[in-house]
Amino acid sequence: MRDRLQTADSVADHDETIDYETVSVPVLVVGAGAAGARVAIALAEAGVEPLVIGKRDHGDAHTTWAAGGINASLGSLDPEDDWTIHAADTLDEGHYINDPEAVALTAKHMPDRIRELADWGMPFDQTEDGKINQRYFGAQSFRRTCFVGDRTGEAMLDALVGKAQEMEIPYRDNVMVTRLLSDGERVAGAMGFDMETGQFVLFRSDHVVLAAGGSSALYHRHSSRADENNGDGPALAMGAGARLMDIEFVQFHPTGMVGARYGEKWDGRLVTEAVRGEGGRLFNAEGERFMERYSPDQMELDARDVVARAIAQEIREGRGTDNGGVYLDISHRDDDYIRDRLPSMTERFGSLGVDITEEPMEVAPTAHYSMGGVDIDFATGDTGVPGLYAVGETVAGVHGANRLGGNSLAETVAIGKLVGEHVAEQVDDPTPTVSDGQRALAQREFRSLAELGASDGDVTASELLAELGNILWEHAGILRAESSLREGLSKLDALRDRTDDLRVEGDRTSREFEFAVDLSFSLPIAEATLRAALERAESRGAHYRTDYPETDDTWRRNILLSDETTGLELRTRGVADPSPAVQDAVDTGYELDYHHLE
Ligand SMILES: Cc1cc2nc3c(=O)[nH]c(=O)nc-3n(C[C@H](O)[C@H](O)[C@H](O)COP(=O)(O)OP(=O)(O)OC[C@H]3O[C@@H](n4cnc5c(N)ncnc54)[C@H](O)[C@@H]3O)c2cc1C
Repeated sequence: MRDRLQTADSVADHDETIDYETVSVPVLVVGAGAAGARVAIALAEAGVEPLVIGKRDHGDAHTTWAAGGINASLGSLDPEDDWTIHAADTLDEGHYINDPEAVALTAKHMPDRIRELADWGMPFDQTEDGKINQRYFGAQSFRRTCFVGDRTGEAMLDALVGKAQEMEIPYRDNVMVTRLLSDGERVAGAMGFDMETGQFVLFRSDHVVLAAGGSSALYHRHSSRADENNGDGPALAMGAGARLMDIEFVQFHPTGMVGARYGEKWDGRLVTEAVRGEGGRLFNAEGERFMERYSPDQMELDARDVVARAIAQEIREGRGTDNGGVYLDISHRDDDYIRDRLPSMTERFGSLGVDITEEPMEVAPTAHYSMGGVDIDFATGDTGVPGLYAVGETVAGVHGANRLGGNSLAETVAIGKLVGEHVAEQVDDPTPTVSDGQRALAQREFRSLAELGASDGDVTASELLAELGNILWEHAGILRAESSLREGLSKLDALRDRTDDLRVEGDRTSREFEFAVDLSFSLPIAEATLRAALERAESRGAHYRTDYPETDDTWRRNILLSDETTGLELRTRGVADPSPAVQDAVDTGYELDYHHLE
């Protein structure tokens, strides 16, 4: 296993050749969530037929779990809103280490992307006069979040997949990419296996777009699907020579379900921000509306990091519930309004015997989103490695030190379209052939996977992944400090040693084999997170260092990581300034006054 974690080159050459399937396409899109789907549609619109692959069934990507909404400065209810204020809010929430170009492109293009999604059948909630409705979300100056109840992600992916099917874009389900095909200079495809048959597959393509999601599920308590967001995208990119950026910034959402109250299966699952957006109030076990102490102006709708730290502090100081949470209460609103605006929350808690129109929910912070990821050029998706592009939650840049709710879905379609259009212009060989060198690389990778599948040690990948989750939660969680981060790194080293003793039960179609591959993605991303969190000797947004509690202006820089022969290398890069129009909006200092909502 350890060899596999380093490089396929370390696997000894054998005479025996391994059988595999070859698929040759002009563009390979790895990831079938919103980002991958939007890239594919842009490619098809430009006359290039990509192949979209995912490790689940068609239409079943993590995007379906997105709940509360998607941001665009339509001004349906607040006509003074515009894209520069959307950009200013995003920079402010990101504590000014976002990539200003990425922010501007997202904010500027979103109104058109929303209208387009509506045209493609996304059933947005409407105002009485027939406009697309918009709700408040945390730390936004105006009502900017468009929504479909609290099932926005599912409705969005349905619309995108419907459009892709109408355009006859080919999808291939249930294939897991394990490594990109790279000669060290450029990417020329990807290698992996069919999760239903176990067959190895070589995808040959001169253009690979990674849209494989984020890494927040590495944490023990998280809001993602258990088997998604394991860091595949960033790890695959880094393995092929791309840089990661901002990987220390992990968003802890304030309101995750509390396992001790609702059962372990629900622990960390998201209670959408829409509950607070629709007026939900937080109380500690003493019945105090504690946000009055932490954020008297913005209250429950302050930024996620502020609300998450406030909840964590209430719990730490003994004012939490017996189950280790606080109360989130929306019952003061009309029953019908709650059922209409929050249908899946009403249904989910109802199935657990809790009527949210009458009683509060118990919540505590949960790892939710990785602001960090692959460092790209946002107008093109270029990673700096020829042939490799990236988009969606796999990348870093739009959100800086903290993400505004509703901005992630926005990024997937706003940037996805641009990346698809750019890649389409690069295609000159629709059916590239496989060279001898590429065949040799594929043989090595498949042999390495076969060896992984034959591992017969004492510890399973799921046990190690669970331990890795605990290490990150304990040592790179909401509150961080040098000594604890160092301890986390040495625990991670010890865990890596134990991968020599891995046992994989079942064949390549088994869940344990998938977890073993996940482990090879998770370890470098966990190490990168701890290392970058240690390097950033300040507090900023979601990254809070108890030993450096202040924001330090000299740290208005991004941390970049690359995987070199000597191990992970870190360096920093300064951040560009926003355009004059966006800077004006920043200087004007728009801000939501929560109390006018009450
Ligand atoms: C509970 C929850 C609620 C959220 N609510 C909101 C919200 O209201 N608004 C908002 O803006 N954002 C929200 N987000 C964030 C948002 O859902 C995601 O950031 C966004 O959907 C990411 O889309 P994506 O296309 O980049 O990745 P994903 O939807 O995660 O898709 C990744 C794709 O890559 C494939 N893949 C991954 N690894 C491999 C591999 N090794 N080989 C092959 N395929 C692979 C997967 O199968 C999948 O098809 C929420 C997130 C969570 C967890």
